Amino acid sequence: MQIYKVGGAVRDRLLGKPVTDIDWVVVGATTEEMLAKGFRPVGADFPVFLHPKSGEEYALARTERKNGRGYGGFIFHASPDVTLEEDLIRRDLTINAMAEDDQQNLTDPYHGQRDLEARLLRHVSPAFAEDPLRVLRVARFAARYAELGFTVAPETLELMRQLSESGELEALTAERSWKEIARALMEDQPQVFIEVLRECGALKVLMPEVDALFGVPQPAAHHPEIDTGVHTLSVLEQAALHKQPLSVRWACLLHDLGKGLTPEEEWPRHIAHEHKGLKLIKAVNERFKAPKDCQELALLVGEYHTHGHRALELKPSTLLELLQSFDVYRRPQRFEEFIAACEMDARGRKGLEQRSYPQADYLRGAATAARSIAVQPLLEKGFKGPELGEAIKRERLRALKAYKEAASA
Ligand code: ATP
Ligand code: MG
Repeated sequence: MQIYKVGGAVRDRLLGKPVTDIDWVVVGATTEEMLAKGFRPVGADFPVFLHPKSGEEYALARTERKNGRGYGGFIFHASPDVTLEEDLIRRDLTINAMAEDDQQNLTDPYHGQRDLEARLLRHVSPAFAEDPLRVLRVARFAARYAELGFTVAPETLELMRQLSESGELEALTAERSWKEIARALMEDQPQVFIEVLRECGALKVLMPEVDALFGVPQPAAHHPEIDTGVHTLSVLEQAALHKQPLSVRWACLLHDLGKGLTPEEEWPRHIAHEHKGLKLIKAVNERFKAPKDCQELALLVGEYHTHGHRALELKPSTLLELLQSFDVYRRPQRFEEFIAACEMDARGRKGLEQRSYPQADYLRGAATAARSIAVQPLLEKGFKGPELGEAIKRERLRALKAYKEAASA
């Protein structure tokens, strides 16, 4: 049997990027031979094994044939007579379809190295169109390598466009899509992921609520960039620049969905967009079965981001309601993430990227004030149950009034 490094490990070595996980392909072996060498089988659909010591993935070289819709609709064929070239041709991009032996001899039948130099994300063969997940993968790679100047080859974009129009994207499971979305959002330029999806028409299918924001104007006084879609991309870009976690990036992407619902005659104003957007945010959350923390934060940021921006003008009672809505006493971290998302929203505007955001510290101070009231004296006064809850709220309100006065003095 011959063993080769394939995929990302080869690509990233040639790019001079750190290689984290290594995928291997094994040519000329049977399952029995692999088991005899102590490899542990994984993967129900095709023969993939884990190395007994390193735990890295070793796949038997295989071919595949499309049979029906979606990812389930593949017939795999793995046998010792499948060649390396046959295995490589089923891969998505030429830069991912190179293999290397233990002497670093490159096997590159589909000119991945040429495309690396040309900074092109190009599909290997027309079979690309057989797995709609590849649309998301290419957009994700575009986000990751944008910094190096990579773009999607026009003919690949055309295939992605056809795939998006074919209805195949709808066959993707929430789990497979979310995995790609989550990884793409954590790249350094997640906005490129959304841009590429939009360019090939996939955004309209996957997240029509986000797609609808392009072409929707906002008031120039607050939004010099005007376009709501452009603004959303900038907010996402800021979130990545500031190394925000996934939940914040997800919330940034969805925070303004309500603006897509504003009747044109009300443009560029978006009255109550925060509230109107909630059902859209919920729909997108559920479509991709986003993790609970992402779902929750997106909804809270959607509903309250304007409160965040107006923090210094909020009445103490409104400030208290905000803190209560976030359950800031038990969930301080989530409130921090809300503040971060608001700040990214404020900075994700043309020419305002460097602005200061005093609201952030003001909100933190308010949370501290509300949290540090003394409960013991209330217990000593004999408050219990719901009455105690009311008394605590009164104390918090008192604390917030004092806080606001001190801050404006
Ligand atoms: P990463 O750095 O994100 O791990 P990678 O290229 O190694 O990038 P993997 O998902 O680990 O990506 O897959 C390993 C290889 O398997 C890819 O380089 C590609 O050749 C192939 N591959 C993975 N998923 C697909 C797919 N859906 N369609 C075609 N080829 C795929
Ligand atoms: Mg990999």
